[in-house]
Amino acid sequence: AATEPVRAGSQHLIHTTPGISTKSERTDMTPHESQTSHHQTRVDTTFDHFHDLYAVRTLGLKTSPVRALFAVANRPEVVSLAGGMPNIADLPLDVVGDALRELIGTRGTQAMQYGSGQGEPEIREGICQVMSVEGIDADPDDVTVTCGSQQALDLVTRIFCDPGDVVMAESPSYVGALNTFASYQAEVIHVGMDEQGIDPQSLREQVSRARRAGKRVKFLYTIPNHSNPSGISQSEQRRRELVEEARHLDLLIVEDNPYGLLNLDGDPLPTLRSMSPDNVVYLGSFSKTFAPGFRVGWALAPRFVRERLVLAQESATLCPPVFSQFAVSTYLTHWDWRKQVRVFIDMYRERRDAMLSALAEHMPEGTTWTRPSGGFFVWLTVPGGLDSAAMLPRAVSDLVAYTPGTAFYADGRGQENIRLSYCYPTPERIRVGVDRLAGVMRRELDI
Ligand code: PMP
Repeated sequence: AATEPVRAGSQHLIHTTPGISTKSERTDMTPHESQTSHHQTRVDTTFDHFHDLYAVRTLGLKTSPVRALFAVANRPEVVSLAGGMPNIADLPLDVVGDALRELIGTRGTQAMQYGSGQGEPEIREGICQVMSVEGIDADPDDVTVTCGSQQALDLVTRIFCDPGDVVMAESPSYVGALNTFASYQAEVIHVGMDEQGIDPQSLREQVSRARRAGKRVKFLYTIPNHSNPSGISQSEQRRRELVEEARHLDLLIVEDNPYGLLNLDGDPLPTLRSMSPDNVVYLGSFSKTFAPGFRVGWALAPRFVRERLVLAQESATLCPPVFSQFAVSTYLTHWDWRKQVRVFIDMYRERRDAMLSALAEHMPEGTTWTRPSGGFFVWLTVPGGLDSAAMLPRAVSDLVAYTPGTAFYADGRGQENIRLSYCYPTPERIRVGVDRLAGVMRRELDI
């Protein structure tokens, strides 16, 4: 995923923020261990001459444990089931290359100029066509183009959240979103979830409790399709109940949907946006269906929200990169992108199946896991007594890496959970990795 870039072999990825370094909270631990002892690592200001000057909101900025993991997990001998990188090896690079050459030849100067703060009209048209596959009927004028959906998350939080405001989120929820909410000093309250998605009753109770306590609840953040990290998809019935409940509570929904088209077992389910156009800000991305490197995502929002998003985008970047937008729209017109998505689906299905059958074969008794119908991730619940964060360094010594569940909660939960990704390694490597992980767990459990 976006917060999980991979740069093989760099031991310095823990130190990701310029001018800010991190260190272990306990000096007897390696940085790697300390990453896993808490959901994130504190900033070390010992040698930072400017540390009194930083805005309070930067105190909420912490390094992603996932990113830190890559320092070790990317050694070739380690099977990494930790990252969320899409596997784009099947992309037709020759077609992309031809399209880019043509783009530069025919309108290179325009592609390299400043553009619209809202995003170029032609890609907003293309985005509406992509969304129509999921039953969304949208006007290009309601779309704001962003640098990946990660920036859409940032802009949405920026326009809605003051310090102390509340964002409701699934439990567990996407680590990159949790970091964004933290960077605006928003409080995250996790809502109960079962295998059908968010429990509307839990949402009602949590929102009412927060409001009774005088808190301002700004929106519900949800990933209805193949959630990162749980792999859970909301059932259609649950979506209707959720949309109804949100309306009843007068609560805005932010629907984050990067994996919707990667349904491995059937047609995409209806989006929350299509059920409730006036009350949903929908976030989309080309990162999983095309390529993350172009950094093109978007927000589809009701008109007044869209106006503020564009103002926020202009103040953040002036305009999203025109070159990337033209590149993506040229790809959409030069290539049968729907067929390409089907190629991706077949590849991910094989990997998902390899992981599920390896889990069934190897996992110690008492372990349970989700069975995703799409996306990239499986969510494990390990037997009592195991601490997934504490176990990670030993797993890496045994040449397998995963993401501890603690990364996906703002409140310290998740010790008994593990996120495994099947998107990047080959089926064979997935089988080896799951076998190794099961071995580590058995050793820890002494069985
Ligand atoms: N939301 C979710 C749920 C994700 O998994 C990711 C990528 N890991 C993003 C948003 C951000 O993706 P991008 O910025 O590449 O569109």
